[in-house]
Amino acid sequence: MQLTRLRIVGFKSFVEPTEFLIEPGLTGVIGPNGCGKSNLVEALRWVMGESSYKSMRASGMDDVIFGGSGHRPARNTAEVTVTVDNADRTAPAAFNDAEILEISRKITREAGSTYRINGREVRARDVQLLFADAATGARSAAMVRQGQISEIIAAKPQARRRILEDAAGIAGLHARRHEAELR
Ligand code: ATP
Ligand code: MG
Repeated sequence: MQLTRLRIVGFKSFVEPTEFLIEPGLTGVIGPNGCGKSNLVEALRWVMGESSYKSMRASGMDDVIFGGSGHRPARNTAEVTVTVDNADRTAPAAFNDAEILEISRKITREAGSTYRINGREVRARDVQLLFADAATGARSAAMVRQGQISEIIAAKPQARRRILEDAAGIAGLHARRHEAELR
């Protein structure tokens, strides 16, 4: 599974529809302080099913919606869509028929989030598991937040163990076991 495109509308500072192509090789995003580099990475974590608004530097999930600035009024919805190339057929079985997967999350003020995979409404859990198996999820060790390195150094052993388990690719198994226990 390869992330190929990120589309952001109304999320944090990305008020106008914005599209990023993620091409093979290394992609760098540069810009002055406050231009939205961290918001971009947060948009990616959010569409992968991040449920903690605190880790999105927000004081409630609705805070990820563009809140207005100068002459621009606030928006009522935010939507992020990530396109995944599944040509290598490594997506979980339920979605593995599709060559291209489009995963989207939309939030409406005071109405929460809805998730879709290729247009079909799914649970947050389905999206989280899709990415947990690909080891790219919202909490994956592959996503390093600003300030996270110092957090890891100061972390308690249990928290550090979770990071190592994730890096070893067994986080998806834990998530599935939890899911099975709930049933
Ligand atoms: P740095 O180089 O300092 O890390 P950055 O490029 O990572 O900066 P971000 O933290 O991504 O910058 O962006 C911060 C900007 O996003 C601020 O100007 C802030 O006002 C704006 N912002 C955050 N949330 C919202 C929101 N809900 N609505 C409008 N603007 C927002
Ligand atoms: Mg930043």
